[in-house]
Order: sequence, then structure tokens, then C-alpha cells
Amino acid sequence: MLSTIPLNSLIDEFILKMRRGNKKHIKILMCEIADSLRKQAGQNRIPINLNEILELRKVNDLILEKSRFNFQGELIPKREGFSVILNSEHNQTRKRTTLAHEIGHTLFFDISVMPPKRMITYSKSEEWLCYDFGRCLLMPSEFVKKYVSIYKQTPTPQKIIDLTNLFEVSKNVLLMRITRDFQLWKDTTIFLVEVNKNKLKVNKQSSHKGTRHTFTIDGKNGLIHHEKIKSFIQLLQINQKIQEIDETFSFKNNSYRIEMFRYSSNPVSILCIIRDLNDESIYFENEMTSNYIVNSNQEIVEKVQTTLEDYN
Ligand SMILES: [Zn+2]
Repeated sequence: MLSTIPLNSLIDEFILKMRRGNKKHIKILMCEIADSLRKQAGQNRIPINLNEILELRKVNDLILEKSRFNFQGELIPKREGFSVILNSEHNQTRKRTTLAHEIGHTLFFDISVMPPKRMITYSKSEEWLCYDFGRCLLMPSEFVKKYVSIYKQTPTPQKIIDLTNLFEVSKNVLLMRITRDFQLWKDTTIFLVEVNKNKLKVNKQSSHKGTRHTFTIDGKNGLIHHEKIKSFIQLLQINQKIQEIDETFSFKNNSYRIEMFRYSSNPVSILCIIRDLNDESIYFENEMTSNYIVNSNQEIVEKVQTTLEDYN
């Protein structure tokens, strides 16, 4: 189980491991620190309010700055703590993501002295650890268990959007947390598409074994090699009256269901889910009335717990 080890001991352990270059279970430790910090700040419900957590980590100054190119944010040590610079052009959710990430960076500093003193030399891996930390902070595992793992299968795009509102996180953070950290919703291929000047920017979050090879959805190069999928995206792009698509179609003698939801019009941004209908063990017409789902709820809770134990 997640420990009741005091926050300072967890951070000491983290620093020691980093100094020794021992990265084993370091991500788990990051998440334990995030959890401990959150509890110490009295944040026992979602959405997590980062203000008190900022205070605990001596971040006492938020500066909004109009964007430099591709600028996310920056943590700056100063005489009496830290300042965080955020990109004023980012929306609230994105600023929250950056802020949670920057709180992660404070762990690399000794904050018992002022100005805070860096204890670990900066390296690129610090960035990834801070992203992991940020996701854990914004979506604590106990709330993922409570609100997400009730969906044995990937829910509809609309429900996914509801979950982002519940946690006040971006689609990216939510999907990363669920599909990568918890390994849930592997029954579908989930991807986000942004259409910018008719160029598709694709961010693939999860891929189901059945659809993985059938539809090439290349997150790295932003490619979708499937005319049907591209035509649906185009429809959502040009016809503002249509906000969602829910279609079943055949391809190479197999049936698939594709659900798309346009969650932003400028730029056109779409959440897409492809379900492999041939995979009967995981597909149900109506998930709410299926006994299997009710029965397997426990299974999924188990699964999340297993993932957590892996953390320890
Ligand atoms: Zn960073």
C-alpha cells in the first residue's frame, strides 16, 4: 500500500537514489511524494487545488509571460523560494499541467535553505520524472480507482471529456495517466487529432492489438493511412453542425466502430476511439446492462491495485 512514510523521508530517499543514479522504482517514489504532498496540503478531493501545494514547496510567485516560442513554463529559484513562469497564452488546464510539472522540479532542490539550492545536476530525465510527478499529483491513484476504473472498457468520447472536467486536466494528461500509468482501456485504439492548416497532428495514446496493425495511426509523424477515418475527420472539420460521429464500418472483412468527438473548433481537435467489433470478449453493445461488466468490476479494481503494488 501507499506508505505513511513522512514526506521528508520520501524526498531524502529520492535524492539519495538520484545521486546514486539508481533509477529503479524512481517513478513510484515520485508518485508517493506527490501523494504525500497532496495529503499534507489537505487536498482530499478533486479537482486538486495546487495553491496549498505550491506553498509547501515554497513557490510563492506565479508570473504570466506572453509566449516565447513553444514555451511551457519555468521554475526559478530566488532569495525567498521559487517563482514559476507560465505561458499566459495557455488555457487554464494547460497552465495547471505545467504548474504540477514545475512543482516536480522543486524536489531537486533543498528548500531548507534560501535561496533553494539544487541538489541534483539537471539532466533530461528530470523532465520525464516531472511529467510523471505532475500526472500523479493531478490524478491521484485513489481517485483514478474511484472514478475511472468503473469503466471496464473505454467509455464514449463524451464520458472521457467529462472525466477531464472532473479532474481538471487536459485530454493528454488524462489519457496518459489511464492508458500508460494504469494500463487501462487497452480494448480500443485512442488518439487525438488536431487539424492545423489541413495538416493532421496525431497523438496516439493507446492502441488495441486488433486495430493496431489494421489502421496505421502514426503519432510520431502525424499520419493516418486510412481514407475512411480521414474522411470522418474532414467531415468534423468542415461541417460545424456535426460534433460527433459514431459509425460502424467494415474493413478487410472485419467490423469496427469509430467514435469521434470534436471538442474544440479552433483549431479543430478531435478525440477518436476505434473499437474492434470482432473482439467479442471485450465488446458489449450496452455496457451498463451487461452482467459481465458488473461482475468484472472487481476484476478491474484488482487490476488497478496490482498496478499500485507494482509501484511499491
Ligand atoms: Zn520541466
